[in-house]
Amino acid sequence: MAKAEEMADGSLRDKMGQGPLGMSAGPDPDEYSKCVHCGFCLEVCPTYQQLSDENQSPRGRVFLIKQVAEGALPLEAAEGPVFACLDCRACETVCPSGVPVGHLIEMSRGQIRAAQKGSRKSAWREQLMLRGLFTHPERLRAAGGLLRFYQVSGLRRAARAVGVLKVLPAHLREIEAGLPVVPRRHHTPLPLPVPGGERPGASGPVRVALLTGCVMDVLFSDVNEATARVIARNHMSVTVPEGQVCCGALHVHAGDREAARDLARRNIDEFLGSQADYIVTNSAGCGAAMKEYGDLLKDDPAYHARAETFSGRVRDISELLVEQGFDPPQATLDRQVTYHDACHLCHAQHIRKQPRQLLAAIDGVSVVEMNDSERCCGSAGIYNLTHPEMARQLLQRKVEDIPQEADAVIMGNPGCMIQIRAGLTGSGRETPVLHTVQLLDMAYRRELSGEHRSERQT
Ligand code: SF4
Ligand code: SF4
Repeated sequence: MAKAEEMADGSLRDKMGQGPLGMSAGPDPDEYSKCVHCGFCLEVCPTYQQLSDENQSPRGRVFLIKQVAEGALPLEAAEGPVFACLDCRACETVCPSGVPVGHLIEMSRGQIRAAQKGSRKSAWREQLMLRGLFTHPERLRAAGGLLRFYQVSGLRRAARAVGVLKVLPAHLREIEAGLPVVPRRHHTPLPLPVPGGERPGASGPVRVALLTGCVMDVLFSDVNEATARVIARNHMSVTVPEGQVCCGALHVHAGDREAARDLARRNIDEFLGSQADYIVTNSAGCGAAMKEYGDLLKDDPAYHARAETFSGRVRDISELLVEQGFDPPQATLDRQVTYHDACHLCHAQHIRKQPRQLLAAIDGVSVVEMNDSERCCGSAGIYNLTHPEMARQLLQRKVEDIPQEADAVIMGNPGCMIQIRAGLTGSGRETPVLHTVQLLDMAYRRELSGEHRSERQT
């Protein structure tokens, strides 16, 4: 037996699940074989930029994945580089061969975690967060309530004054400092009135079902409220299916494809049952994951066709508005803003123009482009918890790239909002971080209140 085969023989590969439902199939040879080793991807890869290490580049990771799949290396050889990847998919944008690096990384992670089931020491923390918290909306809301109490009751101020927070690792202190104050939940009465009548679709008025998400629902329920108002303002009816759950994106990124499939099935039942024409999200990560439900459930005969139907109806909020046509707000906001391209909007969903079109439609708003706006901010799901040092380096670069003259930073993903807010706070800058739809909603609300004049004139 060749040495490489011996290594592979005693490795985790033996314990891998290789079947359909709930099991972990490995990366597809048709996908990794597309790599021609040209290296075009190296210079856009954030981890390679920081480390100059081939193993921490897209080309290096694809090579390791191939070597493991072909039995030339044990599964453990790929673990470090595969999990140090941000899954930002910047490499896919420039790859001339169309290598789906993000999908290869996710499949490889699923394979590694399936093989390690129950044997990894640090697994309990991820499990607690991913399976114990994110899969239970009521627990998440309860956690959000506790966080709000801590933030507004004076406890946070007291904890900072006596220095209790110093016991936390530096990266958790930074995240704590950057967390927005959990908004009070308003429970918008639905359906919202649709001013000017409903937009007709092929089978009557256009119906939108909104994913409120897990993180969005707790930390950014104000953004969800703004999203619902903006959809209604643009002549579409909006519902929020009650039985919806987390989209599973965090689980896919962490290699827990089994939990992600369970969540996907629950969402498919819930959203397709709502009869909506479109399933809309304001979170780039959720949108990218839901557009890939068809792939996630490709080996599930009971759900595959419905998963494809579901994915075909998913739209990011900016995509929906541009596709359906939107009314430019009849009000002025005098703002100079900058825009950060969330990886899972620009690289995963190829949505770059639409958010900028929305911003350009607001009278008085100008956009000053930031340098390298498509480079990852280091948030990447739970990456800032699992790889805090790399996340911090990337955040520092992002904050340095935010133009000083911008009076707000706009983006379309909650993870980026938390991360960039933490970075700005940490560097003493008070520039607000807003979701694209929040700025649009501000203009519509101004229009509604009859304040058509310039913001600075009032
Ligand atoms: S750009 Fe694509 S083909 Fe070229 S090395 Fe990177 S992954 Fe391989
Ligand atoms: S997904 Fe991002 S971090 Fe991972 S290899 Fe590609 S560019 Fe690098």
